[in-house]
Amino acid sequence: MKDIESLFKHQRSFYHNNHTRDVPYRKSLLRQFREVLKRHENDMFEAIHKDFGKSAYETYETEIALLYHEIKLSLKNLKHWAKAELVPTNLPNLPGKSYILTEPYGTSLIIGAWNYPFLLSLHPAVSALAAGNTVVVKPSELAPATSALMREMINNNFDPEVFHCVEGGVEETTELLNQPFDKIFFTGSPRVGKIVMHAASEHLSSVTLELGGKSPAIVFPDANLKMAAKRIAWGKFLNAGQTCIAPDYLMIHESVKEAFLLMLKKETERNLGEEPESSEAYTKIINDAHFERLTKLIDHEKVLFGGNTNPDNRYIEPTVLDNVSFEDAVMQEEIFGPILPVITFSETEQMIAEVKKLPKPLALYVFTKSKKLREKVLFEVPFGGGAVNDTIMHLSNPNLPFGGVNNSGLGSYHGKAGFDTFSHKKSILQKSTLFEPPVKYPPYKPWKWKALRWLME
Ligand code: NAD
Repeated sequence: MKDIESLFKHQRSFYHNNHTRDVPYRKSLLRQFREVLKRHENDMFEAIHKDFGKSAYETYETEIALLYHEIKLSLKNLKHWAKAELVPTNLPNLPGKSYILTEPYGTSLIIGAWNYPFLLSLHPAVSALAAGNTVVVKPSELAPATSALMREMINNNFDPEVFHCVEGGVEETTELLNQPFDKIFFTGSPRVGKIVMHAASEHLSSVTLELGGKSPAIVFPDANLKMAAKRIAWGKFLNAGQTCIAPDYLMIHESVKEAFLLMLKKETERNLGEEPESSEAYTKIINDAHFERLTKLIDHEKVLFGGNTNPDNRYIEPTVLDNVSFEDAVMQEEIFGPILPVITFSETEQMIAEVKKLPKPLALYVFTKSKKLREKVLFEVPFGGGAVNDTIMHLSNPNLPFGGVNNSGLGSYHGKAGFDTFSHKKSILQKSTLFEPPVKYPPYKPWKWKALRWLME
């Protein structure tokens, strides 16, 4: 563990020597990053296939394409994002000018989750490097092939002073968290998020937490049901439901439930065939522990379709559970797998009240043509971010800050929001020395009271 301490000290000293403050240097790192990704594309497809049995197309679509996109956006906007921002100066501070400098936090630590391993470790790393931080990435040990590849890709191509990968589990992460990093960016469960925040409090490190939760998909009777079924089927069973913003459960109006569930079945079959186990578009569950946890959540009395499992290859069929209530086991935790519980509602008010009883989710999806219903849900239900008439895709627009709220996270990233997440806003008042108004100085004469009131009220 001496290595971790020494790595941190090297990065801190590199940062303090101002190497990363130079925008062209940061851009050169991003270009190098892109080149390393390009060179290792096939290795990344293979590693993901080894960990998840996932297709190259889906790996590109859901991970690598988004990394390229973020690098491209950062290279294009970095100079502009890093520029000082002039703001108005209020009367008491004239003559003078006011501006906000954007400076890197300094040393940053990024702890990734396993479900989209490249994206979740490397996407924040793009923002951190763009913002001028040094970076230590700790990928999840639960996806070992991708973790090993990230170590190779980063450590063979970047100086450890600026960008380095440390592999490991609880022990290594704990040691990393013992170091006084300026910024800690964590993606994972609320349970470990609390551990990270606790550790960060020791050094008062700035923290961003990207967590999870139970994200509802709400379907009103006036929705385009066919489109809703298509988009929910895709968003739920993508990566076998192991997606932080997958629709966790379905809230559907009772009047359209039957018709909708038939469409959902059809759309699922259209995507994955009648035997998803042999479909190259269907992913396996990450490990035995998650496989066992998920199979226990399938109440076979309530299976509407799906429900088959195979422990040999950790396969769980896309499964829909009907007639579920908020008391069922499947509603007590984030599912994070290909099981969709269906809860019906008749009253909008009551449905919203039920959704609000659960901790604030990371995402919410509402399907309706009605402006009134859409606005009611968006206004009344707290959640991280989401989509109207779609699932998942809000994550792919870098102009939308991505993150949760309270139980589902703290802070956000993607695009400019990511750059800002890894930057400190340093506010400066620059005063003229031409003259100094006497109002703030003693003796406090009656005319000063008057002048102060006039200035401030
Ligand atoms: P996790 O919390 O178990 O692990 C995340 C990271 O924390 C891993 O790198 C792991 O090594 C480390 N870790 C685990 N236990 C630790 C401990 N005791 N001390 C220090 N570090 C520890 O999460 P996971 O299983 O990898 O991911 C699943 C969770 O992540 C779900 O809740 C999901 O919703 C959430 N998630 C959120 C996002 C997002 O962008 N908001 C993205 C993906 C996943």
